Amino acid sequence: MFDAHGDVRLYSLFQDSVSTPLGVIETTYRSKTMLVRLRSGLASAALDPILALCRGLGYSVRFLDEGRRLLELSGPGDRTHRTRLEDHPDVAEVVDAGDSHERHARAVDRPDTIVRVGEAAFGGGHASIAAGPCSVEDYESLLELAKGALELGVPLLRGGVYKPRTSPYSFQGLGAAGLEMLAAVRAETGIAVVTEVLDPRDVERVAQVVDMIQIGTRSATNFPLLTEVGKSGKPVLLKRGFGATVREFQLSAEYILDEGNEEVVLCERGVRSFDSTTRNLLDVGAVAHLSAATHLPVIVDPSHAAGRADLVAPLARAGMAAGADGLIVEIHENPATALSDGQQAISLEQLRGIISDARKIAAMDGRSFDLSLPKEQKKDISAKEPIS
Ligand code: PEP
Ligand code: MN
Repeated sequence: MFDAHGDVRLYSLFQDSVSTPLGVIETTYRSKTMLVRLRSGLASAALDPILALCRGLGYSVRFLDEGRRLLELSGPGDRTHRTRLEDHPDVAEVVDAGDSHERHARAVDRPDTIVRVGEAAFGGGHASIAAGPCSVEDYESLLELAKGALELGVPLLRGGVYKPRTSPYSFQGLGAAGLEMLAAVRAETGIAVVTEVLDPRDVERVAQVVDMIQIGTRSATNFPLLTEVGKSGKPVLLKRGFGATVREFQLSAEYILDEGNEEVVLCERGVRSFDSTTRNLLDVGAVAHLSAATHLPVIVDPSHAAGRADLVAPLARAGMAAGADGLIVEIHENPATALSDGQQAISLEQLRGIISDARKIAAMDGRSFDLSLPKEQKKDISAKEPIS
């Protein structure tokens, strides 16, 4: 009678069914209460048909305000009913209420979610960093980069093996062979790894190898994929769709959370804009907003926002200043030969500067920047650039 979230499945009270060529499928309901906000300026004569519709669908209805714009509906909570109301021309918004409160939203009594991946912790006053090549290219160079990153205290190695390239003729990643390289480097160095998955059929295999699964910007509305990573039991790094509103981004996260996976890190990586000076437009306003609106950690990817190595550091600083709980950065030992995104790859030395700056900015509002060094060394990470 209860699903994974403790929501009652109202078989007896509100059981409904849908006839399909395969037979009759039972539908179950999560929500008994919906709040419906009607369009402002609605003539009072327009209210009766809406009330009749709601009652006809099996809801008891009451207005919550004197202006008769906010309706509380109690009843079945069927998803198809919600859609009908959302599509109604006189309805401005439908909001779930009560026990179906959206799972990403910050609730008064709910602490920030801290997502721990290896030695990294994101959220709840902790910030950290993932770094690595855009694509895994070969074992030796991945190992060298991982060692170099670890020396700087980077606890999480990124590296794409399934690459979502704009052109089908571009390098598509090493696939399963790349995954094995990530596993081998993880075993050799102890660094945690994160990689992108594109295909729901790969989720299980990838989850067996990596510490965190990345959902890329192009997959942010691949709902079956989001559902699958929600079931994977692994922390998920969810990038914002390049054309997604903040609200759509939140709802993408909701697909993962709704599977019972609470370990979601939101990643702002820039949205497509009218201006191609930078590859994408880093939306620091979204970072600030999401930090307040959700209990989930929010990190920034300055590499894909900038698209240029020279702007990665300033955008990383901007993201941290807006309240980000960390960064994900692309690095390469020889950007000119990189198989993908070489223009935005930075060196380990440049990464050192970014980490140093990020720690200082995090410290400004009392946040710690978690690195994977022994304690004494953690203090020295910015030794080359004394805090001014
Ligand atoms: C990546 O991280 O290499 C990547 C493809 O990122 P995005 O999905 O943000 O473009
Ligand atoms: Mn990339």
